[in-house]
Amino acid sequence: MCFYDQQIFSCGDHKWGRFRAHCNKEYRTGETCGMKLIFEASRVGTKCQMCKKYEVIWRKIGQARERVARWEAEGINPVSTDKEWANIVQWQRELREIEMMKQSKMRSI
Ligand SMILES: [Zn+2]
Repeated sequence: MCFYDQQIFSCGDHKWGRFRAHCNKEYRTGETCGMKLIFEASRVGTKCQMCKKYEVIWRKIGQARERVARWEAEGINPVSTDKEWANIVQWQRELREIEMMKQSKMRSI
């Protein structure tokens, strides 16, 4: 078990930071072992990269949906509408991937 800094994001996710100290067991070898313990935790005012990315995609989907709804109401841009729908489907897939990544990260803590 070795000690590391930890950053805690406003979304509740965390990220390991700088290595700080060896534990007694590993001190002699100079190696770091796989187990990480918190040396010092600091709160970060922002969300983690994954949540930020999630929000960006989420916003893109919202904007695309509005555009599509407007075009469909006005009966214009059928080609762009199709393309935008394809984008929305792709983005929704990305959101699901991020959710799955977050879940597997939770389990590994
Ligand atoms: Zn997060």
